[in-house]
Amino acid sequence: MDPRGEELRRRLAALGFDDVCFAAAAALDGEGLQAWLKAGMQGEMHWMERTAAKRLQPDLVLAGARSVIMLGVNYWPGKLPAGGATWARYALHEDYHDTIKPALAAAGRALEEIYGAGAGDYRYYVDTGPVLERSWAARAGLGFVGKNAMLISRRHGNWLFLASILTRVELPPDEPVRKKSSDATIGLLCGKCTRCLDACPTNAFPRPGVVDARRCVSYLTIENKGVIPRELRPGIGTRIYGCDVCLEVCPWNRFAQAGRRMLLTARHELVRLTLAELLALTPERFAEVFRRTAIKRVKLAGLLRNACVVAGNSGDRALLPQLVQLAGHDLPLVRIHAVWAVRRLGGGELLGAAWAAESDPAVLEEYRAEVESTKLET
Ligand code: SF4
Ligand code: SF4
Repeated sequence: MDPRGEELRRRLAALGFDDVCFAAAAALDGEGLQAWLKAGMQGEMHWMERTAAKRLQPDLVLAGARSVIMLGVNYWPGKLPAGGATWARYALHEDYHDTIKPALAAAGRALEEIYGAGAGDYRYYVDTGPVLERSWAARAGLGFVGKNAMLISRRHGNWLFLASILTRVELPPDEPVRKKSSDATIGLLCGKCTRCLDACPTNAFPRPGVVDARRCVSYLTIENKGVIPRELRPGIGTRIYGCDVCLEVCPWNRFAQAGRRMLLTARHELVRLTLAELLALTPERFAEVFRRTAIKRVKLAGLLRNACVVAGNSGDRALLPQLVQLAGHDLPLVRIHAVWAVRRLGGGELLGAAWAAESDPAVLEEYRAEVESTKLET
């Protein structure tokens, strides 16, 4: 046992990381990632292509990198209040990118204190860096990659934020969950279970362990800045921001305990927002309600788009007056989805003649022109 490695592990755990594992920084096998990109399953997430090489090879990010420290923060919230729409649980906090970073900076300082000033040059990331966190976490034994393509921890199930530190320090690597497994082995501890694959509301798994982002509710309601394809809108159901279906059905969640660290910055009250309140959001109210959360990144237009789809799926005709009003919204993105929702709720006659067809070509054209003119933003 390396006493300095163990000291580092203790210090990182004391900073609030629920799991701390080390992996050697030798390049990952990129076959799965390359095939996924080649098939275009990343949708509009073009940064995945641009950063592919770095994700597999840490020394392209930090020259001379020898180890990857993988850190997990449990965000299982326990029981949530009842609400009007369904939110991905990870989003119901102050933005984790911001709240985890100070602990990562402190982790870097611990590395330097234990291994000397030479260890002071490191890189740390939470989610947004050029690091294939899931594969590094599997190599470091933090968990295994399930058929749902998520990193699953035997202790915390599917509910971990993953963060990473790249360092030139050679740390004693931990064993993967099964010694001979490769970083890309899918479903190591899934057995015959296929619950996640069967439960996906939009059939986004072309095969176990592979998510076609273009069909995934999480992508469609968050990363996607444009129109949600009509044929996928019913599958969105009540999910207004992200999707936890393939996570929450997983039997490996049975040991999950509420994550104490994340409860400190929880915003669970957001689930109480009714659909009527969401459809009525103004720019000021949006900024106030979602301040400091990751949700604000979809901007008001994205959230109204999603709210219209959920309202259309709700069967609640009491929402029709608001939807009809949104059918005249300034933003074509909102109008397109509001019109769809009105018609899905059987209120087509409430729309003006301009909406004789729900995918009115003139509106789609206007929408395209607007996207073109705000390309930097979108
Ligand atoms: S997040 Fe939802 S839509 Fe995406 S793959 Fe999982 S179950 Fe399917
Ligand atoms: S739901 Fe079943 S198949 Fe899917 S990741 Fe969990 S254990 Fe594996």
